[in-house]
Amino acid sequence: MARYTRPGVSAILDSVHERLGPPPASPPPAGLSGVLAGTRCLLLDFDGPICDVFAGLPAPTAAGRLIRLIGDSHVPVPADVAGSGDPLRVFSWASAADPGLGARVEAELTELECAAVAIATPTPHAPEVLSAARASGRLVAVVSNNSERAVRAYLAAHGLDDGVDAVAARTSPDAALLKPSPHLVGKALAALGAVPAEAVLVGDLGTDVRAALLAGVRPIGYASKPGVRATLRQAGAQAVVGDLADLVAALRTGLRP
Ligand SMILES: [Mg+2]
Repeated sequence: MARYTRPGVSAILDSVHERLGPPPASPPPAGLSGVLAGTRCLLLDFDGPICDVFAGLPAPTAAGRLIRLIGDSHVPVPADVAGSGDPLRVFSWASAADPGLGARVEAELTELECAAVAIATPTPHAPEVLSAARASGRLVAVVSNNSERAVRAYLAAHGLDDGVDAVAARTSPDAALLKPSPHLVGKALAALGAVPAEAVLVGDLGTDVRAALLAGVRPIGYASKPGVRATLRQAGAQAVVGDLADLVAALRTGLRP
């Protein structure tokens, strides 16, 4: 791969934030190996590609706890938010509505996520993705809207922390910093000392794809559920896998960075 000049952290973040606005058009899909070619960093979303966070503690249960917390503050919650069953959506609404409330909701959400990851379901082949990436010479970062504490707790509990070079996850009550913002992607790149063109991001939602595109990183979709593949393609994913075993194979057989 071409030699590069290691940029400073602030320069990387500046270059990422300058890209805020409509995401650039995604280049035509080049196949999984083509998307991985020449990259030296693998960025992985957490909920989906690494584990099913709310498999044991259902997301609607967590969302309900947050709604009750907000109710204690006598702040009316819009029906679509209250009925979403999505704790991150509830948090995002609270963060935008009132920073103080957002901070209280974020703290509770972190506790719920830590409880959830203790009984989360591992994604098949996720550990092999980490080991195959490492064996290929790549650096690995986790980029997650979930709390950094919960992400690190899961990685440690499953013996995966040695396979991850950086974690860029939620540490702030400001939900605007979460994906689809490129902020966390930029933090991961800065931690790895990489420029966007050197990285791919694997995620299971359109917001992951958008965050990657905004940051200038090549997006790979992980279609963990039926019907998601088309959504990820439409969002701009340059390749989509339905099974992480395909990503493992591509990392093992593809060109070394
Ligand atoms: Mg996800």
